[in-house]
Amino acid sequence: MAKNYKLLLKQSIGGPAKPLVKNGATVKKGTLLAQPEGLGVPLHASVSGKITEITDTYIMIAADAKQSADFEPIAKSDSIVEMVKAAGICGMGGAGFPTYVKLGTDLKGGAIVINAVECEPLLKHNIKQVIAQPEKIRRGIQLAMQATNAGRCLFAIKEKNAEAIAAFKKVIKDGDNIEVRALPDLYPMGEERAIIRETMGVMLGVDQLPAVAGAVILNVETVARIAEAVDERRPVISKDLTVVGKVGKDRESHVFLDIPIGTPVQELLDMVGGIDGEYGEIIMGGPFTGKSCTPEDVVVKTTGGIIVTMEFLNEKRPLGLLVCACGANEARLREIAGKMNANVVGVQKCKQAQDVRGALKCENPGNCPGQAEKIMELRKAGAQAVLCSNCSDCTNTVMCVAPKLKMAVHHETDHVMRTVGHALIRRLPIEECKAN
Ligand code: SF4
Repeated sequence: MAKNYKLLLKQSIGGPAKPLVKNGATVKKGTLLAQPEGLGVPLHASVSGKITEITDTYIMIAADAKQSADFEPIAKSDSIVEMVKAAGICGMGGAGFPTYVKLGTDLKGGAIVINAVECEPLLKHNIKQVIAQPEKIRRGIQLAMQATNAGRCLFAIKEKNAEAIAAFKKVIKDGDNIEVRALPDLYPMGEERAIIRETMGVMLGVDQLPAVAGAVILNVETVARIAEAVDERRPVISKDLTVVGKVGKDRESHVFLDIPIGTPVQELLDMVGGIDGEYGEIIMGGPFTGKSCTPEDVVVKTTGGIIVTMEFLNEKRPLGLLVCACGANEARLREIAGKMNANVVGVQKCKQAQDVRGALKCENPGNCPGQAEKIMELRKAGAQAVLCSNCSDCTNTVMCVAPKLKMAVHHETDHVMRTVGHALIRRLPIEECKAN
């Protein structure tokens, strides 16, 4: 039976792309399937085969049994921005902003900042790519610098990734103007404004973009896709990602480079030995910012991780929620609380989390303002346990206060970390975090 690939028409920030093909048509890998009408990115076939369904939200392809490595190339152009646009590149670190818009910025000698921080625990595909393809990344950086008139590149990566840092430094040549900046292993060092602070010493306001600091930030996979678009005329038809958790026989992170867009989650799980017994949930994305998904969901251009977790612990005590701007939002914390069969009695947000056009933004990501007041508010509301989505630093003050008030502490990532035997996200020892 043919394998089916479901390509969602909305793959990025902006509107969905409009189908250009008809049901029943035969397509090659790389065939242009849909174009956006405003902000957005075009969609290309990730496999060769026959179109079997077109709806308002997706195009389904029944794949040929034999897939060739060849693809239909995008049109050649002298403009880097035009080729990036035609290739359908968007922020592949998860943000999904159309890359051609960023590359249209005139930095007038400013900086391209590369996000190779891979901030979410357990995800390892970005670092693997730096080790495996440093030349391609360097080439993508050169093209991005040329398109934006950048005078230098700051390459942000966690200091713990010594092998990747060494591999990348080896390919940098005199005159490249690329500086590697090693960042501490804390969440959320990969947040856009945290990277600007750490690499350029500028703390942007909650509503300011990197351009205010004279910078454009690009994820490391995004910049590799830029090199592919310009040098190979390759559209975005595949995605790098990590599969980890209660799968197969081990709990290691399994990295896959170039998984076809539209691949079902079930197929990825099968590739690592399938789900191992009962499980809590499947997460698409990282432990902090991922969302629960089903085996029928599919890989999109922003998919970075598939995580299968252990079953949830029950929490019978009244539960308070503490929301971080850089981790799970209130809706996701409520979802986790529901899966723990907990009764939510209060909600607080970190005092550095500011509402910017309906989304929370942190005033100074990863630098704790102190959570004592918020924990006491939750205690007053009757909470005997707290579920938080705080950054590494803020878990410090949660742990300083909550146990003294006889409140158990849960972090949104606990069920993920316990699944793989990883240390829980706390910077202070845990006195009593067990659920009832
Ligand atoms: S300071 Fe508060 S809002 Fe900012 S990252 Fe830490 S917990 Fe989140």
